Amino acid sequence: MAVIDRRRAVGVDVAGVIVGGGHPIVVQSMTNTDTADATSTVNQVMALARAGSELVRVTVNTEEAAAAVPNIVDCLEKFGVRVPIIGDFHYNGHILLKKYPACAKALAKYRINPGNVNIGKKHDDNFRTMIEVAIENDRPVRIGVNWGSLDQALLTRMMDENAALAEPKDARDVTLEAIVVSAIESACAAERYGLAHDKIILSAKVSGVQDLIDVYRSLASRCDYPLHLGLTEAGMGAKGIVASTAALGVLLQEGIGDTIRTSLTPLPNGDRTEEVMVSQQILQSLGIRSFTPQVTACPGCGRTTSTFFQEMAAQIQNYLRKKMPEWKGKHAGIEEMRVAVMGCVVNGPGESKHANIGISLPGTFEEPKAPVFVDGRLLKTLKGEHIVHEFIEILDNYVATRY
Ligand code: SF4
Repeated sequence: MAVIDRRRAVGVDVAGVIVGGGHPIVVQSMTNTDTADATSTVNQVMALARAGSELVRVTVNTEEAAAAVPNIVDCLEKFGVRVPIIGDFHYNGHILLKKYPACAKALAKYRINPGNVNIGKKHDDNFRTMIEVAIENDRPVRIGVNWGSLDQALLTRMMDENAALAEPKDARDVTLEAIVVSAIESACAAERYGLAHDKIILSAKVSGVQDLIDVYRSLASRCDYPLHLGLTEAGMGAKGIVASTAALGVLLQEGIGDTIRTSLTPLPNGDRTEEVMVSQQILQSLGIRSFTPQVTACPGCGRTTSTFFQEMAAQIQNYLRKKMPEWKGKHAGIEEMRVAVMGCVVNGPGESKHANIGISLPGTFEEPKAPVFVDGRLLKTLKGEHIVHEFIEILDNYVATRY
């Protein structure tokens, strides 16, 4: 199945952030606060934006939420946080966008779910109303299909048509096809109602890795709209991260996806910004975009019986993340830096030489000294209790002189 060359795909301007058209793949995220609680929402949007989210979506599910949106956007502006805010609408978006014009204006984009915008209606009047509000306000939309809320009338129609075939397809294939058709038919309807072609982003999310790959390959071969990519309901912890990475890795490698979100379930009171870091790491690991210096660390083995090496790797990683907001504006190219923290002499010196700056710690039974390599050459050998502190000093010096 041929994928349309995404560099020739349409670019959609979301309040200055261009999605698609060969522009860098955009990282986005979504809040999990009650949008009506403007203070909590502003705080979480700021945290997500500071972590690197370039677009942030908030749910707009009630009148109180719609009324709060303009305050949230104003407040962010006052704090100097300029991240575009996207409104996520289900069921009642047509009512809220009409009744709260300030909300419609404050939002940079509307997400419309074609599976639930017209529930119980024969025509797509509600969908059309939302498109008309987008046109009035000159806003783009994302037509976001999700298999958990797929248009049941469309699915039934396609299942019936399939059942009448001499050789019916598998129900899975029909469902995946219905997801793609729902996205494309909705985009065509939006254009019929007057929305410009370059105001539409599509997504078609499912929660299975192989299903997601099939759906997006199909979608990418049939349209040139920018695609928002994400494994929906990816889950918690390692499962969510690995499943998202597996699915997105395959698709991004094929040039599919113009903006991504990693839909992780955080632990209760967990850090919502983790999803931003994971999205960035997926892009950086694939060599698509760079966000932060990378630490190469070996897993350790029987040659590293103390925890010193793990602690040092963690300290260096945290230090780099903490310094990045300050370094980013001052040191061009810093996000490409590679740092190695290695556990022993077996691979330590070799890996350290491949990094911009690396340290090879002594393994158990090795002489207690740690050679530091800078740009492939031995700079000095550290010893004693202050290795971490001294290595950070060398690191700071390197950043100041090299970038
Ligand atoms: S570099 Fe040394 S400590 Fe690290 S995994 Fe390899 S052998 Fe083990």
